[in-house]
Amino acid sequence: MQTGKIGVTTENIFPIIKKFLYSDHEIFLRELISNAVDATQKLKTLANLGDYKGDLGDLAIRVEVDPKKKTITVTDQGIGMTMEEVEKYINQIAFSSASEFLEKYKNQENAIIGHFGLGFYSSFMVSDKVEIFTKSYQEGAKAVKWECDGSPEYKMEESEKDTRGTKIILHIDKESKEFAEEYRVEQLLKKYCRFLPVPIAFGKEKEWKDGKEVELDKDKIINDTNPLWTRKPADLKDEDYKKFYQDLYPMADEPLFNIHLNVDYPFKLTGILYFPKIKNNIEIQKNKIQLYCNQVYVTDSVEGIVPEFLTLLHGVIDSPDIPLNVSRSYLQSDSNVKKISGHITKKVADRLQEIFKTEREQFEKKWDDLKLFIEYGMVTEEKFYEKAEKFALFKNTDNKYFTFDEYEKLIKENQTDKDKSLIYLYATDFEKQYSFIESAKKKGYDVLLMDGQLDTHFINHLEQKLKNSRFTRVDSDVVENLIRKEEKRESKIPKEQQDDLVPVFKGQLPGNANFAVTFESLDEQDNPVLITQSEFMRRMKDMAKMGGGFGFYGEMPDSYNVVINSNHPLIQRIAEEKIKKTEKDIEKLDEKIKPIEANKSEIDTANKNKKPEEISQEDKDRIEDLEKKIRELKDKREKVLTEFGTRNKLVKQLIDIALLSNNMLKGEELNKFVKRSIELL
Ligand code: ADP
Repeated sequence: MQTGKIGVTTENIFPIIKKFLYSDHEIFLRELISNAVDATQKLKTLANLGDYKGDLGDLAIRVEVDPKKKTITVTDQGIGMTMEEVEKYINQIAFSSASEFLEKYKNQENAIIGHFGLGFYSSFMVSDKVEIFTKSYQEGAKAVKWECDGSPEYKMEESEKDTRGTKIILHIDKESKEFAEEYRVEQLLKKYCRFLPVPIAFGKEKEWKDGKEVELDKDKIINDTNPLWTRKPADLKDEDYKKFYQDLYPMADEPLFNIHLNVDYPFKLTGILYFPKIKNNIEIQKNKIQLYCNQVYVTDSVEGIVPEFLTLLHGVIDSPDIPLNVSRSYLQSDSNVKKISGHITKKVADRLQEIFKTEREQFEKKWDDLKLFIEYGMVTEEKFYEKAEKFALFKNTDNKYFTFDEYEKLIKENQTDKDKSLIYLYATDFEKQYSFIESAKKKGYDVLLMDGQLDTHFINHLEQKLKNSRFTRVDSDVVENLIRKEEKRESKIPKEQQDDLVPVFKGQLPGNANFAVTFESLDEQDNPVLITQSEFMRRMKDMAKMGGGFGFYGEMPDSYNVVINSNHPLIQRIAEEKIKKTEKDIEKLDEKIKPIEANKSEIDTANKNKKPEEISQEDKDRIEDLEKKIRELKDKREKVLTEFGTRNKLVKQLIDIALLSNNMLKGEELNKFVKRSIELL
C-alpha cells in the first residue's frame, strides 16, 4: 500500500472547496458523471481505432444511492485507470488544478459561476470520504483502490475488481445528507444529465401489477442520448421539434417557429432555438435557453453569451467553445463568445427572413406574437436592425400588414407634408382613439396601430432610422394639422371675435389639467370642439412613465389643446349669441378702455427714446395708474364673457362631448352631461 501527501501548498484544501462552492454544491454529480462519460467515450474511440479489441459490453453508467449507508456510487465501464494514472491524474494534476482554481477565485466568490475545472475534487463538497475503485482497459492491468477522507492525505493500493472501468463511492457528510436521498439525486440527474450521450441507469423500471408497483429487471435509463439538436435537420419533422419543445417546457404554449443551429467553423455550436409566443411582460420571458457543453447541462442563464434580445427565445445551445469557468464580464469580452453571439443573431435574422419570404401569410398571422421580440432586437442590436428592416411589419388599423418599404409607398403621396417630411400616423389605442382614426381615414390617410409594449421606444428609433420621416399620433392634433399642407381655409369668425370666445369656453373647462384654447378653420363637417395632446408632451410623459430619465415631464400636469372649429355652424351660433347677449356691456367697457389706452400710448410715445431712469416719476406713476385701470376693465370684460359662457348650455355641451370622446368625462360630470343632453332634446 502506498500512502502519501497530495503535493500542494494549501494546508487543507477541502474546507476551502466547501466554503467557496457553497451555492453550487449540487454540481458534484455532474462532474463525476461527466468524467464517467469521457472515460466511456474514450474507450469507444479506442475500440473504433482498433486499439481496444475486447468486448465493450453494456456501457451504461450506473448511479446508485444508499440512504442507509449515506453513499452515492457512480460506476462506469470506461477506460479506467492504472495506478500510475491515478497517481498522475488524481493525485497530481487534478489536485493541483483544483487548488489553482481556488487560489485564483479565493477572493471573488461571485466569479465562480462557471463550474467546470474543479472536476473530481468537487465531490469533497458533499463527502467526508471518497473511494475510487478502478481497473484500466489495458491488458493485464491491476485494479486500484484509492481513498481520501478530506485531509490532504490519500491511500492507494492494489485491489480486487473484476470489471473494467471506474467506480466512485462518495460517503456523504452530515451537512449534505439531502444528497443521499433517491429523489434528490433523481432531481439532479434530470437537471444535469438529461441529454448526456451515454445511457445513465438509475434504479429499475417499475410497473403496476395487481394494484402494486413492482420493480422490473430492466434498468431505468434517465437520459436521451441523441437529443434532437444532435440530429440532422433533414431527418426531422415539424412534429419532432414541437415534441422536443414540449419536453423542455411542459407548461408553455406551442412555439411559433424554430431554428436548428449547426456550426462547425470557426467554432462548434449546435442547438435549437424556438420563438415563443411572447406575452406582454418581457422580464418573465427571459432566460429560458439552456446552455450545454457536449450535452452536459451547464446553466439556463445565457446572459452575456447571446445578445439581450435573444434571451427571449427558448431552446438549447450546445457549444464546447464557450469558456465556462470565467466570470460574466470576462465572457462578454471573449472573442469566441462575441463570434458566437454575432452568429446566432445572424442565424435568427436569416431564419425570419426565410419564413417571411416563403410563408408570408403564416408570418403575418404570427406577427402579433413575434413583434415584441423583433422590435426589441431592432432597437438594441444594430446588426439585427439591418436585416430585420426587410421583414419587420407595420400593422395598420384595418389589420393589414406592410413591410417598411411597402408602407412608405402606400403613404408617400398623401402623407408628405409641405416640408417634404413623410408623416406616419399611428394610434396606440384603437377604441379610445377611434374618432380620430376615423377622421384621418376619411381624409384618405392611413393609420398604423402601435399598441405594443415597446412601441414608444420603437417609434423613437424609427424616426432616427427612416429618412425625412416623423411619427405623429392621430389624436395629437386636429386632422387638418396632422399633416401640414400649403393651403389654408378662411375662417368664418374674424380674429377679434375668436379672442372674445376664448374666455367663453375657457371658463367651462375642468380644472384638473392645463387647457389651451385655440381656433382652427376646419371643415364644417368636422367636430365643433376637439381635445388633443401634443405629440411632444405626450411622448415625454410616456418616457417618464417608463423611467427613461424624463422625470421632469412626469411631474407636470397633463396639458391639452382645446381646438374650436370656427367654421362649424354650432360655433357660429354661439358667436352670434355671444354678440347678442354681451354686445351692450362689452361696448360700454370698450368705450371706457379706449381713451385710457389712448392716454397711455400718448405718454409712451413721449417717452419713447428715453432710458427708464430718464422718465420722470410723475409719468411713471401715471402709467402705472392707467395700466391698473385697463387691467380692471379688461377683467370685467372677461367676466362678462365668462358669465355668458356659464349660462350658455351649448358651450358646456360641446366641451363635454369633446371630453367624452377622449374618455375624459367621468363621474358626476358625466352624469350632469347625460341629464343636460336629455333636457336639450
Ligand atoms: P478533468 O475531468 O477536468 O480533466 P477531473 O479532476 O475531473 O478533471 O479528472 C482528472 C482526470 O482523472 C481526468 O482527466 C481523467 O484522466 C481521470 N479520471 C477522472 N474520472 C475518471 C473515470 N471515471 N475514468 C477514467 N479516468 C478518470
